[in-house]
Amino acid sequence: MKTYDKLYINGAWTASSGGKAIDVINATTEEVMGRIPEGTETDANAAIAAARAAFDAWSQTAGPKRGEYLAAIQAKLKERAEELARTITGEVGVPLKIAQRVMVANPIHTFGTYAKLAAEFEFESTVGNSVIVREPVGVVGAITPWNFPLHQIALKVAAALAAGCTVVLKPSEVAPLNAFMLAEIMDEVKLPAGVFNLVSGYGPVVGEALAKSPDVDMVSFTGSTRAGKRVSELAAQTVKRVALELGGKSAALILDDADLAAAVKATVSYCYLNSGQTCAATTRMLVPESMYEEAAKLATDAAQGFTVGDPMGDARLGPLISDVQRDRVRSYINKGIAEGAQLLTGGAEAPEGRPKGYFVKPTVFGRVQPSMTIAREEIFGPVLSILTYKDEADAIRIANDSVYGLAGTVWSRDEERAKRVARRIRTGQIDINGGPFNPMAPFGGFKQSGRGREGGLYGMEEFLEYKAMQLRPPKAA
Ligand code: NDP
Repeated sequence: MKTYDKLYINGAWTASSGGKAIDVINATTEEVMGRIPEGTETDANAAIAAARAAFDAWSQTAGPKRGEYLAAIQAKLKERAEELARTITGEVGVPLKIAQRVMVANPIHTFGTYAKLAAEFEFESTVGNSVIVREPVGVVGAITPWNFPLHQIALKVAAALAAGCTVVLKPSEVAPLNAFMLAEIMDEVKLPAGVFNLVSGYGPVVGEALAKSPDVDMVSFTGSTRAGKRVSELAAQTVKRVALELGGKSAALILDDADLAAAVKATVSYCYLNSGQTCAATTRMLVPESMYEEAAKLATDAAQGFTVGDPMGDARLGPLISDVQRDRVRSYINKGIAEGAQLLTGGAEAPEGRPKGYFVKPTVFGRVQPSMTIAREEIFGPVLSILTYKDEADAIRIANDSVYGLAGTVWSRDEERAKRVARRIRTGQIDINGGPFNPMAPFGGFKQSGRGREGGLYGMEEFLEYKAMQLRPPKAA
């Protein structure tokens, strides 16, 4: 049991003004595994004031010095990597191996990246008679979700600190313990008071306080499109900068000359990563009509290989994050059946032998039509839809037939053909023939998947303003 009874504000552990707490539930056992403060608007405003006061000095701190702090945070994250991974497996229900290799390894990498960028970035350049200065945008409100909790926090916090911004973080209250561990690290490395603040609590209270405060210059949000729209509306009143990383309905476009077995296997794995609670998950598998039967069989076999069980053990599919999420996913499965898709494997009932935990069966639907709800809405669970297409143009049209535009994959033995098709898919990233995730590449969406990019240099630039200083040309001698 990890209990945190204080928020981290202005470099000190501080009691919440409301005095209330929120239980953190273990997704596998449904037992209380921790407790955090239920922050209030007053707490959020105190943190914003601290971040405002700290901004001047932090923004004037030399890049290499900021980089030293980030490197020290990275070193402490490494020391606590195993504890962090086990905590995240408890909160989220993700298999421990994935918690270690993705959910903790990525944030460690991210802090390292921004330590280097802070030290090496050229904050000044010249254009004609102007000196162009890149300055930090100011106080950043970071609002993060539960699915890859520390990864999403690191992408915002490390990049913002590297840029010279100060931060108030509002993590998801469903998976917040890792954020408190990060705050402990910030404290240990003696980051100057107010540079990083942590206020846990509910989105409509603490999140909205950040979005509407005139003292916050930018909100960086990851989560649902619904909450992202609300944050944008509130932020518009003070014309603050808003970065949004929202949902997706990514297509795996398997062309007729692809290695079908490899493509289907990878698509199912990407769809089921973190029990399907991944914004870039390939949830729509597009295959030529002539290859449907074989693809359906391969996908069914692959899905059945995803053993459901204890994520601390060797199960490949842990529970979903919460009862709310489990019920939402099951209702999508029922909707798929009601709308006439073919249930190839899985289903809405609880997996055998799992009376506790928020488990959902690995599910595959065949003969899904583009108009069906399961082909259009983000399910955020282990549910794959197989759709067929007539020809390449039809495939591109179906892939783009979505309000989302986050990610996708293209599979073909002809890489030039795959690249040509990839250029026509309206999404922020496309993996070709299983090209691996690149943490230095920009990550973000087109259309209703959001605005802005995270990762590497692109992620740091989100937190910078341009200032142009015009110099008087020297008088001719
Ligand atoms: P939310 O979008 O509600 O949560 C994400 C973050 O936003 C949390 O910190 C949340 O706080 C906060 N938040 C919620 N409402 C507001 C608000 N009005 N103002 C400011 N902040 C707010 O995600 P859900 O947990 O409701 O998940 C629902 C669906 O969203 C999922 O099924 C999935 O489809 C999608 N989603 C997508 C993610 C992605 O990575 N793109 C991540 C998470 C969800 P709190 O938790 O306290 O409400």
